[in-house]
Amino acid sequence: MQHSAGGRALAIDYDDVLSAQRRLEGVAHRTPVLRSATADARAQATLHFKAEHLQRIGAFKFRGGYNALDRFDAAQQRAGVVAFSSGNHAQAIALSARLKAMRAVIVMPEDAPEAKIAATRGYGAEVVLYDRYTEDREALGRGLAEREGLTLVPPFNHPHVMAGQGTVANELFDEAGELDLLLVPLGGGGLLSGCATVARARYPNCRVIGVEPEAGNDGQQSLARDAIVAIDTPRTIADGAQTAALGDLTFGVIRQCVDAIVTVSDAELVDAMTFMASRMKQFVEPTGCLAVAAAFANAEPWQGLRIGIVISGGNVDPLRFASLIAAP
Ligand SMILES: *Cc1c(COP(=O)(O)O)cnc(C)c1O
Repeated sequence: MQHSAGGRALAIDYDDVLSAQRRLEGVAHRTPVLRSATADARAQATLHFKAEHLQRIGAFKFRGGYNALDRFDAAQQRAGVVAFSSGNHAQAIALSARLKAMRAVIVMPEDAPEAKIAATRGYGAEVVLYDRYTEDREALGRGLAEREGLTLVPPFNHPHVMAGQGTVANELFDEAGELDLLLVPLGGGGLLSGCATVARARYPNCRVIGVEPEAGNDGQQSLARDAIVAIDTPRTIADGAQTAALGDLTFGVIRQCVDAIVTVSDAELVDAMTFMASRMKQFVEPTGCLAVAAAFANAEPWQGLRIGIVISGGNVDPLRFASLIAAP
C-alpha cells in the first residue's frame, strides 16, 4: 500500500507490479514492442507499440487474471474461481485456472457469441449462461461464490488485477527506455491504473493519457469532476471499453497518476485498424486500437515526442473485422 500526497491510500504501488512481473515470468508472453517508420511519419513522433494482441488469449487481461489466481491461498485454490464476462476477462480467467489446475465458473450472457462461449469452455471452464435482460449477473456471480465457496475475480477493480496489467508498461519501458508520453486504452481502468503506477515510479516526467471511445467518455468526465461518473452502456465498436463506470480502486489511482483522458471516434478506430492491418500486418480488435487512433489523431501537440502505445487486444471475429475495414 502506498500513501498518496492527500493521505488517501492507493490500491497498488510499483512493488505490487514487480511482484506480478515475477509471477508472470515464463507464464505470460513477453510481447514484442513494434516500430514502424510509416507510423512515425504519420504521427510525426517516435512510436513504440506494445503488442498485447499477441499475448496469451489475445489480450493483456491474461496478466491480471493469472496474477490474481496465483495469489489465492490453498483453500481458495481448492474451491476455485468465478468470474462474469463475455469478453477477454472470461478467457483470461479460464486459461489461468487451467494452468493452476483450478475449477473455473464463468458467468456469460446467453446471447454471447458462440465462438466466445466455445473458447471459454475450450479452456476447461464451466460456463453458466444468464439472460442479460432479466437476470443480474453480479447477484448470480455472488450467489455462486457463496454457495460453492468460489472466489470472485472482477475484471478491473481489484489490486491483483491492476498490478498484473501494470506489467505491460513495465516491459514497454524495459525495452523502449524513457518515454515522453504513454497512451493507454481505458475501459474500467485496470490497464490504465497499473500502467500509470509504473510510469510514476520509473519515469515521473512521462505523461500518461488514457484513451476512451468518444461515445463513452465516463472516465474523462470522472477526472474532470474528481468523482466517479456513471453513464449508460455506450454504443461503440470498442466493445472492450463499454464499461459504464470506473471502479473506486482504479479511479483512486487514475486521479492521482494520470495526466489526462482523451477520446477517439469509431471512424478513427476503423482507420487505425486499417492502418495496423495494411501497413504493420497486425490484426487488432477495435478496442485494441484506441491508443493507436489517439496517436494518429494527434489530439494534442505531440509532434517529435517519444510515445509508448499499448495495443490491448486482437480478439475480433475475422468477418466482423473485414466488414468494419471494408465500410467506406
Ligand atoms: C478489457 C479491455 C480493455 C480495457 O481495460 P480496462 O482494464 O477495463 O480499462 C481494453 N482493451 C481490451 C482489448 C480489453 O479486453
